[in-house]
Amino acid sequence: MNNIEFDKRHIWHPYTSATSPLPCYEVTAARGTRLTLASGEEIIDGMSSWWAAIHGYNHPVLNDAAHKQVEAFSHVMFGGLTHQPAIDLCKSLIEMTPEGLNRVFLADSGSVAVEVAIKMALQYWACQGQTRKTKLLAPRNGYHGDTFAAMSVCDPVNGMHSLFQKSLIQHYFAPAPQTRFDSTYNPDDILPMRELLHEHHNEIAAMILEPVVQGAGGMRIYHPEYLRECRQLCDEYNVLLICDEIATGFGRTGQLFACNHVDITPDIMCLGKALTGGYMTLAATLCTDEVAIGACAGEPGVFMHGPTYMGNPLACAVANASLGLIKTNEWQGQVQQIEIQLKALLTPLLSYQSVYDVRVLGAIGVVEMKQQVNVAEIQKVFIKHGAWIRPFGKLIYVMPPFICSHDEILTICSAIKAGIETLYPD
Ligand SMILES: *Cc1c(COP(=O)(O)O)cnc(C)c1O
Repeated sequence: MNNIEFDKRHIWHPYTSATSPLPCYEVTAARGTRLTLASGEEIIDGMSSWWAAIHGYNHPVLNDAAHKQVEAFSHVMFGGLTHQPAIDLCKSLIEMTPEGLNRVFLADSGSVAVEVAIKMALQYWACQGQTRKTKLLAPRNGYHGDTFAAMSVCDPVNGMHSLFQKSLIQHYFAPAPQTRFDSTYNPDDILPMRELLHEHHNEIAAMILEPVVQGAGGMRIYHPEYLRECRQLCDEYNVLLICDEIATGFGRTGQLFACNHVDITPDIMCLGKALTGGYMTLAATLCTDEVAIGACAGEPGVFMHGPTYMGNPLACAVANASLGLIKTNEWQGQVQQIEIQLKALLTPLLSYQSVYDVRVLGAIGVVEMKQQVNVAEIQKVFIKHGAWIRPFGKLIYVMPPFICSHDEILTICSAIKAGIETLYPD
């Protein structure tokens, strides 16, 4: 049995069937922006390995940090022990994130960071004697991960989790904001959220949302004024605000964090994906002093969560190296250039009958088709044109590494154009 046959028969991949999985390509090397396939083909990664590999693969600075830490120690338990890599990382995160987020919980994946955020919010209100505040409120079209509490706040209909609705806690959902990032804000956008809070604030512990860009729930880019209004509503109705920046964090939207588009501080913030520059899994849940102190006042007095690999030194060391690169601020010019180029190259695709919408923000480009995309077939075209892009549903979207050159972005956009022309010609 060759590798691909073994893989197909025995290994689960994300979001695919065990009986008739989508084709899988074997990677043998990755360097800079490029993946090398077992076929020998070299393709530019338009996905940054799902938002993560912002500095590219096999980066000397990140490699060096990993090697050095392996030589020292790869892991020690975080219960009762601490270490320099975790301390440095938490210092940086507190410094970089919006003012007021002073407490860091290191989690081992984005979904776990969301679970932790939800648990913090519920425990906070329980400790304040507000035992009725047990529900969450979220805009529709959100995505927050695949574990059960995270699934319960994903879009309940279009979400990937509708099968489990009966096993999930029922929360409150408002229609997703409609005003686009760069059009004039329509103040009606916030009305359903206000109404739900007005009716149910006594039961609502927290509002959870992805600031400005809704990722896997539809790749929607909305007006930041909506975010500002959500912050105001949460203050007004005594509800905590959880911002899930797992996808948007570390420069992707053109600001260091999407919250910076309107300078708000959430009560709780989740980070992940690009935190280690795509090297290994690590996530973080930050909160204010008030939430941390409030959640540990009275019974049980402790926060009952502690993953085995919490604060993994190897992951922290690589994250520190990645944040070091972020701190040089080179990403600002890179993301700006990518945005200009994505706008220039993707917007003309609107002239195809098969294309429904094109949207770009920072280093994120989305082409929404009118019909479901045939992933297996269109990927063949993308690869032939030198790009790795993985569409889902009607969405062909890219979030390339920040280090992509002008020519590489051109290749990615030309591949998208070729895919559309080949499979969905007018
Ligand atoms: C990817 C993602 C998650 C889940 O992170 P995992 O590391 O895959 O568990 C949560 N929220 C958002 C916004 C994401 O994009």
